[in-house]
Amino acid sequence: MDLGIDGKVALVTAASRGLGRGTAAALAAEGCRVAICARDPERLAATADELPGEPLVLPEDVTEPSAPRRLVDATVERFGGLDILVANAGGPPRARALEVTDDGMMDAVNANMLASIRLVQASLPHLRSAGWGRIVLITSQAVKQPIPDLAYSNAARTGLWAWAKTAAGDLIDDGITLNLLCPGLHATDRVAELGHRGRLGDPEDFGRVAAFLCSVHVGFLSGAAIQIDGAGTLGLL
Ligand code: NAP
Repeated sequence: MDLGIDGKVALVTAASRGLGRGTAAALAAEGCRVAICARDPERLAATADELPGEPLVLPEDVTEPSAPRRLVDATVERFGGLDILVANAGGPPRARALEVTDDGMMDAVNANMLASIRLVQASLPHLRSAGWGRIVLITSQAVKQPIPDLAYSNAARTGLWAWAKTAAGDLIDDGITLNLLCPGLHATDRVAELGHRGRLGDPEDFGRVAAFLCSVHVGFLSGAAIQIDGAGTLGLL
């Protein structure tokens, strides 16, 4: 299936490894002109070398409040516009609900809620001027089913989901869709670090689902939180 996004401009944050990298690879394979960000410039450059096309390499910490605007401005300066935003950031550390600290919660909200909101806000003028746009926020299956030892993630990401639900409604008349992807366990460095075992998803498969959500064919699929979890989430909604 031709996704119809050949030549579109996509910004994918936190994309030198894992799910962000898989998404950038899928969009680049569809012919998108892709900008990718991560903190480690060498690893980011190595990832860019492996992707199709000539990705724009933007070494940034996406959790810095001023980074989203710099990322969007640099992407627009290089490619002349912006059509697709895939917002991603690293995940917070483990903690059970009663162990959380103020500082830890503030960090999680900043990284896993506010950074995505800032990226959307910085991108919107360009998507609106294009009269078309696709926004995908990478979150977690925790949005559907809280994970007992990832309390920071549970709290920050469900806050983002509540925000995104109404943001999507405010954007649909502009031809812009906004959806969450909610990964279950995938074979990435983060999952290896967290010590998870068992059946794992392929980050490249995840990326292809993200690219599908960015296609020209799914203009009425918006305001959804879609789990990609190999049937791992038991909630019915
Ligand atoms: P990963 O394998 O650890 O990769 C994280 C990527 O993000 C790297 O490219 C990293 O590069 C970049 N990154 C991290 N923090 C960043 C920051 N502050 N600014 C810019 N780039 C940053 O992680 P992943 O498994 O793909 O997970 C991605 C997201 O999905 C995380 O929020 C994670 O919690 C969530 N998630 C993952 C799974 C899973 O099974 N993999 C499941 C549920 C939720 P640098 O280190 O160089 O910055």
